Amino acid sequence: MKRAIYPGSFDPLTNGHIDIARRALLVCDQLLIAISHNQEKSPLFKLEERKTMIEQAFYGDARVSVSYFSGLLVDFAAKIKAPIMIRGLRAASDFEYEFQLAAMNRSLNPDIDTVFFMTGSDSYFLSSRLVKEVALLGGDVTKMVPAHVAQALANKRPHNQIL
Ligand code: ADP
Repeated sequence: MKRAIYPGSFDPLTNGHIDIARRALLVCDQLLIAISHNQEKSPLFKLEERKTMIEQAFYGDARVSVSYFSGLLVDFAAKIKAPIMIRGLRAASDFEYEFQLAAMNRSLNPDIDTVFFMTGSDSYFLSSRLVKEVALLGGDVTKMVPAHVAQALANKRPHNQIL
């Protein structure tokens, strides 16, 4: 049984994250999507909201579970006995940071390895940060996130936006 962990802030989940998770499920049996407590200082969505959005997106797929973590990712991965960490790569700009992070994690715990999946052609430009920015300014993000996430983003839009 191959168990992998897919960590991130998922604020909110995008089709890019879903794409990476689906690719990861081709090579692992169980995927734990782990929402980080400590990365973002002022997230748009609460941890519970992010967890519910992810659970809804993978509803009915018993291979996927969702939880939170704080502290060192490698410690959490060791605790839940997941020797593989999944990360996604969009562009060359992701590579440097991800390379550094993977090397750091390996030096902290050599038994846990990072496996990278390359984004699909529909998702290479998607980041939670940009999707939030576009949605809050009233842009259409329905092709970039699942329908329930688009609705949650629309609910966050200020009603008294000055046009
Ligand atoms: P983001 O970078 O979108 O703010 P996260 O911190 O939640 O999101 O990212 C978690 C992981 O998912 C990272 O490895 C990130 O590179 C990857 N990821 C996010 N969006 C995409 C995408 N569109 N295509 C491929 N990987 C992605």
